[in-house]
Amino acid sequence: MDIALTGIKGIGPARLKAFEAAGIHTVRELVMFLPREYRDLSAPVPLSALKPGDTAAVRVRVAGEVSERRARKLVITRLYVTDGAEVLPVIWYNQPWLKKQMTPDRELLLYGKAEMKNGYVTLVSPAIEDGDGLIPVYRSIPGIPARALRQSVEAALRLCEGQWPDELPEALRRRHGLCERNFAMLNAHFPQSREALEAARRRIAFEELLLYQVALALFRHTGREGVQIDFPDSAVEDFWAALPFSPTNAQRRVLQEVAADLRSTRAMARMVQGDVGSGKTAIAFAAIALAHAGGWQSALMAPTEVLARQHYEGAKQLLEPLGIKCGLLVGSLTQKQHRLAHEAIASGEWDVAIGTHALITEGVAYNRLGLVVTDEQHRFGVRQRTSLSDKGDQPNVLVMSATPIPRTLSLILYGDLEISIVDELPPGRTPVQTRIVPEAKRAGLYGFLRKEVKKGRQVYFVCPLVEESEAIDALPAEAVYEDLRTKRLPDLNIELVHGRMKPADKDAALERFRTGEADVLVSTTVIEVGVNVPNATVMVIENAERFGLAQLHQLRGRVGRGAHESWCFLMAEPNPRLKFMCSTTDGFKVAQKDMELRGPGELFGTRQSGTLTAGIGALAGDTELLKLTHDEARALMADPDSPDSRTVIALAKERFADRLEDIGVN
Ligand code: ADP
Ligand code: MG
Repeated sequence: MDIALTGIKGIGPARLKAFEAAGIHTVRELVMFLPREYRDLSAPVPLSALKPGDTAAVRVRVAGEVSERRARKLVITRLYVTDGAEVLPVIWYNQPWLKKQMTPDRELLLYGKAEMKNGYVTLVSPAIEDGDGLIPVYRSIPGIPARALRQSVEAALRLCEGQWPDELPEALRRRHGLCERNFAMLNAHFPQSREALEAARRRIAFEELLLYQVALALFRHTGREGVQIDFPDSAVEDFWAALPFSPTNAQRRVLQEVAADLRSTRAMARMVQGDVGSGKTAIAFAAIALAHAGGWQSALMAPTEVLARQHYEGAKQLLEPLGIKCGLLVGSLTQKQHRLAHEAIASGEWDVAIGTHALITEGVAYNRLGLVVTDEQHRFGVRQRTSLSDKGDQPNVLVMSATPIPRTLSLILYGDLEISIVDELPPGRTPVQTRIVPEAKRAGLYGFLRKEVKKGRQVYFVCPLVEESEAIDALPAEAVYEDLRTKRLPDLNIELVHGRMKPADKDAALERFRTGEADVLVSTTVIEVGVNVPNATVMVIENAERFGLAQLHQLRGRVGRGAHESWCFLMAEPNPRLKFMCSTTDGFKVAQKDMELRGPGELFGTRQSGTLTAGIGALAGDTELLKLTHDEARALMADPDSPDSRTVIALAKERFADRLEDIGVN
């Protein structure tokens, strides 16, 4: 199973590279790449039942001619299909080869989403399927078409058929009615039935959650000595006095918690959770100021260069007057600047180093690193977090997260982190007003946007990525950009950013928006993280139905950061989920709802789906399983020398080695 992927038919050098870029190197890792969701092809629906927003399979035939339209970089293929009773338009973007294939009367099994286009329910970019039953859908890997990915997984499964050793003790499996591992792997990818899929899901999720909780228990059992930072009591008030505003009560309380951690002999491991805009940055800067007052150096790591620069500017303004020397270390610096930065960090000339991953690359040696702050944790893997704390003598770690999680859940997810919650917004904010805008009302929106821009405000347009379409990744954003620029708002300054642009171009575009040179920023979700433009008051989210609730909440947090009334427009047909978004601005309520609504899309919280904890988070929607594994982990840890406990503990150590090594468990 640990053989290289080249052993699989159809994987040549190019695909190999693409897989490796996605972190998949062996046949085992490919089999562990679990589907995000399944397409149910077993029950196609009649066209008459399709409503906008539905995702469904339809069995149809081509009715009439195919038309093709070109608009700049777009090729739009359009045709009508019928199921005998109804006729439905279908469109595809940038798949010109389809035109030849869509001969009249051809039978098709299509799977996709129905949307309103020009006033008609339209199937947009559906997949052309064959087969029936439950078909796996994987997170897309750039460079590997969906169909090829499916075939590779199938081949990998066949290669290791029957060979997965069942590592969980048999008694434990029997106790919890868990299916056998080979059955689980097979049915996780190609389920024989819904029941088989559920058995597979339960088995895989149980194992992941159990091992995770055992790993956390191992961690809790080890006390962790760390850098102790002593500072005069006045340092806290000095910092608050230097702020241009007075802190909220929540900010004060959280800083007290942080200050107590810094002073203790145990290394701080604290996560500060707070809704977007709750003022977490001030807390981070305060912690840095306290560390400095105690004679220690700090590092502040952000997930993107834009965000790092933004923090750097803010830190310079606030911290340098307090005698704290700030420095910036990001990937785009010249070689010489890199060298100088490394020197300034090593010599202690910089009291705080602010940057991206560049802060943790080899060759960066700190002088007296006492505090590590990482911003927007959910974008970092555990490994990155821990490797920065490797850089010193167990420095204190402070993690800032804008993803609110119900408290009971965060105890399980982040058992190794203490949690502080900033549950109050700074005064004077008007909450963002969220509204659903159906297609029929779109035209009215542009007049409103123009008015806002006339008042001096700025506007975000956010577009979803297109699934399964490496080639047209940026397409909706590009299409929206073209439409705004040429038709809807030609008199405004419009910028575009998406994931496939060169980082330098992307940063330049973001910069033009930040400085106010641009009125409108069209983007994919790259702006989701931390961009702070208080002058932006409107966010328009295209195809809002495609986003998760928590993500929508993150996105709308980009507006409403200044004193002006702010708006978030969800471009979609109304549905209960989106109506819920309009009804609350409380991130914790949204997070709770999001968890309740998690569909089969995240059945498996695998590590490939992002950071480890994000993956576990997906599993955590299953509270019954959480409780079971929690109790089982406790029972096992109560008698750690029993053979079953030993087996499970060894497995947990192996599975979570990266996290445990860092804290000295072996
Ligand atoms: P987030 O928690 O999302 O990181 P930020 O730290 O970026 O939020 O803060 C959002 C905005 O609120 C910033 O412009 C910041 O200067 C401002 N701010 C933070 N704390 C306060 C406060 N106590 N009073 C007024 N404004 C504040
Ligand atoms: Mg922030």
